[in-house]
Amino acid sequence: MPTTEKTHYDVVIVGSGFAGANMAYMLGQKGKKVLILEAGPGIERSREDYLENFYLNTFKAPEAPYPPDATALAPAKTNVPRPTIPELVFNTWDAKPGRWREPEQSYLSYQQSQLPFASTYERLAGGTGNHWMGTALRMTDNDFKTLSDYGHGRDWPIGYDDLKKYYHQAENLIGVSGDAAEQQSIGPDFGDTNFPMRALPKSKLDQLVAERVNGKSLAVDTEDTTAQVTVTPAGRNSEPYQNRRVCRGNTNCTPMCPIQAKYDTQFALRLALDTGNVTLQSKAVVDYLTVDTSDLNTTGSNDEKKKITGVHYLTYDDISAPAKSGKTGENTVSADTYVLAAHAIENAKILLYSTKKNGVNIANSSDQVGRHLMDHPVYLAWGLTSEPVYGYRGPLSTSGIESFRDGGFRKQRAAWRIEIGNEGWNWPATDPYTTAQDYIYGTNTGQLNENNTVLSNAEYRDTCNEKLTRQFRVGFLVEQEADPENRVMLSETLVDHLGIPRPELRYNISDYVKAGFRSAKAASQKLHKLMDAKEYTKATTEVATHWFDPVDKSVYNYAGAGHVCGTHIMGDKPENSVVNDKQQSWDHPNLYIAGCGSMPSIGTQNPTLTMLAMCLRTVEEGILGV
Ligand SMILES: Cc1cc2nc3c(=O)[nH]c(=O)nc-3n(C[C@H](O)[C@H](O)[C@H](O)COP(=O)(O)OP(=O)(O)OC[C@H]3O[C@@H](n4cnc5c(N)ncnc54)[C@H](O)[C@@H]3O)c2cc1C
Repeated sequence: MPTTEKTHYDVVIVGSGFAGANMAYMLGQKGKKVLILEAGPGIERSREDYLENFYLNTFKAPEAPYPPDATALAPAKTNVPRPTIPELVFNTWDAKPGRWREPEQSYLSYQQSQLPFASTYERLAGGTGNHWMGTALRMTDNDFKTLSDYGHGRDWPIGYDDLKKYYHQAENLIGVSGDAAEQQSIGPDFGDTNFPMRALPKSKLDQLVAERVNGKSLAVDTEDTTAQVTVTPAGRNSEPYQNRRVCRGNTNCTPMCPIQAKYDTQFALRLALDTGNVTLQSKAVVDYLTVDTSDLNTTGSNDEKKKITGVHYLTYDDISAPAKSGKTGENTVSADTYVLAAHAIENAKILLYSTKKNGVNIANSSDQVGRHLMDHPVYLAWGLTSEPVYGYRGPLSTSGIESFRDGGFRKQRAAWRIEIGNEGWNWPATDPYTTAQDYIYGTNTGQLNENNTVLSNAEYRDTCNEKLTRQFRVGFLVEQEADPENRVMLSETLVDHLGIPRPELRYNISDYVKAGFRSAKAASQKLHKLMDAKEYTKATTEVATHWFDPVDKSVYNYAGAGHVCGTHIMGDKPENSVVNDKQQSWDHPNLYIAGCGSMPSIGTQNPTLTMLAMCLRTVEEGILGV
């Protein structure tokens, strides 16, 4: 592992994920000397090690291959804890008082009466981009101005046209396969540009959905719009690209593609290191930024006084071995420019802790740090098709229905996009394992063994084949609007093993989003009907991620999409936002706070392509000032 040889750099970047690795690559190519401080283990372990972890782990969640071991769940005893899926900690949830019974088991803690934030992220070299799925859709024009157009959420200080050229660059950097003409037909303007690779083919399931649903309306409030199944642009090779292989359909994009046909951020990080100008220091947990406080009580009318002077970080030997904690070190490094790229929740945590440690407000004169936490709460629906569609192969998702992402209905309810999943009931029911076990033990956990039959031999094989090949699911990614009350704060009582306060969240789902869920449910019922499919969607109060809807008097469950946004939003005024349109702190000119946390609205599309486009713009027009 390289260590910090210098103590002053052109740029210090905190975090080596999607934002950090790619910004380092851009800056390194321009000859800037960059240090990346990365909290988690570096890339010294091979991908095969992580893959083996996944194969051997019975817990097949996105974080299964990566450290720390999610089932160990002791954030107070881990140097770099990170959230894990609510399902793993839901039995610690006491629905009556509405709080975590044992907060020690959940890295993210909650204020009482709040809903759990259902998404996770990684803390190791490459970050969450190790296990992202690869979906790379652009935002629509109107997604940048939801407040002006629809009276909900926040507007961006920039629009689609400001990001257009960077979208194109980001698609080339990632290596996105897709069909620009088809995308253009449903929204974003591609001009005369195209994706670097042709689209991957539609799966058998996509074709069946297209055959039965195309041209039909799905929601009552969008009757004038009809459904169109389109191939989803994705960072997944349809041709050899960047020395990576062509997708062979392992259905394992999340948590990692076994043949690296999917772009992942360890790949991005290697590109950065290969410039020869970028140093990665792993196992270096940044806890706070420093400022020269001697003159700061004047609240810094002069820019020099407000500059960040250093990054303070703690090093350790072993990610979750308290016994070795004696080896923990404390360091500070300085640079001309600082970039926080530790992801939305961690960026906010570092800024809030910086304020606490320095005793003066850091980047938070607007009081907006940590606020407007967003995700795409997902309405999952699943059923059995009338004929085999042979899921569990192909990329996890190849197509979606994007037709309903925008429209006047957004004045009344949140919009959604529909992702069509090729992995059977893996997400909603942990299949094929659940159904396979049901027919061995005579149980009906997965709902397909109503008579609690026990089967063996050919009968078992034929039944599983007959059921599993007809499974499908769709996920409605519901837009969540920026709400200042959904926020990240510092826990006053809970710390990680290094003594750093853990994030405390306040998170709720608004009536606007709930109305989006009601419409998703109605659309899903219609979709199943059109497909001649039997729906098995089931909602339960057994998990923490549920609410009771008084309007249609039923229970709703939600899943997390992993799209952690907001927390340091950009705006056009220092009074109401944390960063400007170049992700530069209003309060500290040499500090950039980069990532999905800067997004004032989330739209319905998976956010990382937009975030990367924003970061490329930040490097070019902000840090390099071209
Ligand atoms: C299951 C799943 C699937 C997803 N699929 C998609 C998809 O298909 N399409 C899409 O657009 N998005 C997807 N996402 C979201 C996507 O992964 C994120 O938007 C993206 O990775 C965010 O990039 P980032 O660089 O901001 O953060 P990250 O990639 O999380 O990187 C942050 C980095 O900062 C480091 N760090 C954290 N704290 C500190 C600290 N204190 N000191 C130093 N370093 C620190 C972390 O270790 C990490 O390396 C998915 C997410 C999940 C969970």
